[in-house]
Amino acid sequence: ANAVHQIQAGQVIVDLCSVAKELVENGFDAGATAIDVRFKNQGLDSIEVQDNGSGIAAHNYESVALKHYTSKLSNYDDLSTLQTFGFRGEALSSLCALSKFSVITCTQEDAPRATKLEFEMSGKLKSTSVVSGQRGTTVIVEDLFRNLPVRRRELERNIKREWGKVINLLNQYACIQTDVKFTVSQQPTKGKRMVLFSTKGNPSTRENIINVFGVKTMNALIGMDLKLELIPTTGPLDKGKLKEGATAEVRILGYVSRPVHGEGRQTPDRQMFYVNGRPCGLPQFAKVFNEVYRSYNSSQSPFIFADIQLDTHLYDVNVSPDKRTILLHDQGQMLDNLRESLIELFETQDV
Ligand code: ADP
Ligand code: MG
Repeated sequence: ANAVHQIQAGQVIVDLCSVAKELVENGFDAGATAIDVRFKNQGLDSIEVQDNGSGIAAHNYESVALKHYTSKLSNYDDLSTLQTFGFRGEALSSLCALSKFSVITCTQEDAPRATKLEFEMSGKLKSTSVVSGQRGTTVIVEDLFRNLPVRRRELERNIKREWGKVINLLNQYACIQTDVKFTVSQQPTKGKRMVLFSTKGNPSTRENIINVFGVKTMNALIGMDLKLELIPTTGPLDKGKLKEGATAEVRILGYVSRPVHGEGRQTPDRQMFYVNGRPCGLPQFAKVFNEVYRSYNSSQSPFIFADIQLDTHLYDVNVSPDKRTILLHDQGQMLDNLRESLIELFETQDV
């Protein structure tokens, strides 16, 4: 049973990014207004995520790290309207199986008396002890993949690339989440801890982008608020999802590099996509942005921060375990519309 648990855990937690993603999303789900992500040795030694959210109530200590335990979904019908990131109850149990795993947590009522929880690999609670702390939860993942030598070696060998990916992902969360103080720091095995970037609990994504990428980057961007009208079709793609007479407006909100003819790089080529505020990869959308942008400046890719806002009946998030992949219905029509709107937006700029 242990080996099976380990294999399944290795499918939920595949790399540094999945650790960071699961822990940060748990912080957001707990209603945190401050999230602090701390790496030691780029995550090879440890990854700690501290939040000031609800904390975990004592009667849940035994169950939180058990497989399929989740407090977030009461029945299956909730899936379509789910507002939280998590709902599978697989992250903590997987991390137990793949690392030295512990939690320090404290609810409002218990503050300043926090509890440190240690778990067995199976997710069974091993010990609790009282420590001091404020409302919130800190999850500590040490020595990731310590019991999967091949995976561990792979991580160490590719650490440069993995590190780049995890920082990009954290940038993505930090930029979209308003009213949350988001801090990321790293400490080398020997040496001082350094803050890599932080947001200040800003009311707007604009200020978040300035905190993360700098005011110079912001000044080279243009705002976008594109409205794509979708015409309900009866083609096989829709599978009845786009009901007759249903309003199917898609809005794309965010920022994109101002197109500049033939000049040097104005912005870092970071491309961040979201669906209803949920970070995800949207390669087909990125392709349209890049193509339209390159008709102005053939040698560069734009900075993109784009939140696709649409009704939940127009997409499925539930297609991949990490929920990074999102299936949009009638994507072809959205992309055609996007291309036209982008050209229109760029045409109104002085280039
Ligand atoms: P899921 O997020 O899918 O519910 P997880 O394995 O990520 O599953 O977490 C299991 C449960 O542990 C959550 O449903 C929640 O009740 C609790 N939990 C995890 N992280 C936190 C946190 N940072 N703050 C409060 N509760 C948490
Ligand atoms: Mg979770």
